[in-house]
Amino acid sequence: MSNPAKYSLNSKKVAEATEEWLEKRGVTKMEIAELVHFLQKDYFPELTLDECMIHVDAVLSKREVQNAVLTGIQLDMLAEEGKLLPPLQEMIQHDEGLYGCDEILALSIVNVYGSIGFTNFGFIDKVKPGILVRLNSKTEGEIHTFLDDIVGAIAASAASRIAHRKQAEREGVTTPPLD
Ligand SMILES: [Mg+2]
Repeated sequence: MSNPAKYSLNSKKVAEATEEWLEKRGVTKMEIAELVHFLQKDYFPELTLDECMIHVDAVLSKREVQNAVLTGIQLDMLAEEGKLLPPLQEMIQHDEGLYGCDEILALSIVNVYGSIGFTNFGFIDKVKPGILVRLNSKTEGEIHTFLDDIVGAIAASAASRIAHRKQAEREGVTTPPLD
């Protein structure tokens, strides 16, 4: 009888893999910070890219976010390798408009950050600025059906985190809302 080693979650490895795979799939944290800046610059004209980056890091440190990133990237890669079951393979490969599970997975990220996250996610998905143009370009051999929504969701969540924190600052609240 086999005696598999006891499984135990290694949170540090999950966090490291998240950053590693985002980079391997061609997404830098600065590009996500640029999306955050795009979403919030009209509300906070003094907002800097470095500040946006801090919020992107905070969002990426959450377990729900890491799980969604790794799951989405894995599905994109399996689709690139043609390893999914038909007709799921074809639907993900062609970014089928009526599929929708890519958006739902990304919503598990936005979920953590409340309604401002939701509205920003819908907005950025429509406008598709910056890095989202490249992820949606359907370059031969590349599939980012899940990753485009995930990147948009991370940016939308960081934007929501900024909005809540700025309001708390204005009110002099010492315990910041949303971690
Ligand atoms: Mg998609």
